[in-house]
Amino acid sequence: MDDLRILNGHLIDPAADMDAVADIAVRNGRVRAVGVLDAEPARSVVDASGLLVIPGLVDLHTHLHAGGTFWGMEPDPVAWYTGVTSWVDAGSVGAYGLAGLMEARKDFRVRSAILLHISAHGLAARTGESRDLSFLDVDALVAAATKHPEEVRGIKVRMDASTVGDNGLEPLRIALRAGAATALPVMVHIGSGPFTLDQIVDLLRPGDILTHCAGRGARGVTLPGPIRNSLRAAHERGVIFDIGHGAGGFSFEVAEAYLAQSMPPHVISTDLHVLSASGPAFDLPTVMAKLQAIGMPLVDVVRATTSAPAAALGLDAGTLTVGAPADIALFRRVDEAMEVGDVHGVARTASERLVNAATFVAGEYLPPTFPPAPPSWVSLSDAQRTALNARERRLRELLTDPLVPISGVANQIPTTTAVNQE
Ligand SMILES: [Zn+2]
Repeated sequence: MDDLRILNGHLIDPAADMDAVADIAVRNGRVRAVGVLDAEPARSVVDASGLLVIPGLVDLHTHLHAGGTFWGMEPDPVAWYTGVTSWVDAGSVGAYGLAGLMEARKDFRVRSAILLHISAHGLAARTGESRDLSFLDVDALVAAATKHPEEVRGIKVRMDASTVGDNGLEPLRIALRAGAATALPVMVHIGSGPFTLDQIVDLLRPGDILTHCAGRGARGVTLPGPIRNSLRAAHERGVIFDIGHGAGGFSFEVAEAYLAQSMPPHVISTDLHVLSASGPAFDLPTVMAKLQAIGMPLVDVVRATTSAPAAALGLDAGTLTVGAPADIALFRRVDEAMEVGDVHGVARTASERLVNAATFVAGEYLPPTFPPAPPSWVSLSDAQRTALNARERRLRELLTDPLVPISGVANQIPTTTAVNQE
């Protein structure tokens, strides 16, 4: 018997070239069948009529090590209402902190993978991790990555003035040496630095990942104007362009320039962390809506949040073909305009929004889990503080309201009126 059947949903699975109404059968955590199912019973049946059914989303750029780093947050309290079933931690830890994150991830209900920071102390602090090159220890990284080949899928380096100090391009060069030694891709964060964007981009190999690719921060991005030759050449040779929205890495004007020049980003990710989770990124469906708002078709947006990020790191995720892990996201397509903003306060209007209806990991439904308050070092606007307080109040009301009147309560210990006295 199947463990789960999801019936009559509109399945979009770009990896399988699927865009049609279909049923999905799940057994032992994996997809057993896709198409029109016979009438056999299953342990659990979900009627997904009118809903969008897509592979569980893969977020290529997040920060997961809550309690271990400045940026870290818990994935499960966000996953259940956003459909994100695979979370890639982008450099929260380096070699020194890997054991701690390996321990923490055991408690996650979602899947997770790790991009190990080239700086051995990772993102314990807000910035500055590559100002002292003695922390960029290739041997320590290789040893740590080799110990956990299933989880460590790449290397992270951040390239901006505050992070690298006086070290120029050296942190990237060292990360690329570690990438060559481990045969792992390097994800490079770009910001304003003592180097040009061209110098960074020209060093990247096919398969390496340029995150914050639509950020305004990189010195040398000319606006308005054509995409730089170095970026076009990198796109053509197979460098992966990743949105990595975050609190500072996404500009509508830059993203629109990419689309106008037929160079859409390969991957849409949030760069979700304690600073971006209360906005402007919010979550992956919201970031997806931003790309839809500027004209990226839904099927391309789904590809950029499922099969494309999975392929970038070789993850067993991002598709619902037979045999794949049964990570499944159900969404309602709500036909109402939504205003969305970039990190500079520039707004666009998305014509529809995707609202998650249910999320499954390995065929298991993710139940509601409530997010904790942001840590003390996150400064919030009055509007953000008010919204968080309102959310807390509403949750409290939900949980303190009686679910049914006393007449509707089942008698758990029935007593018979005719007592048999022997
Ligand atoms: Zn990040």
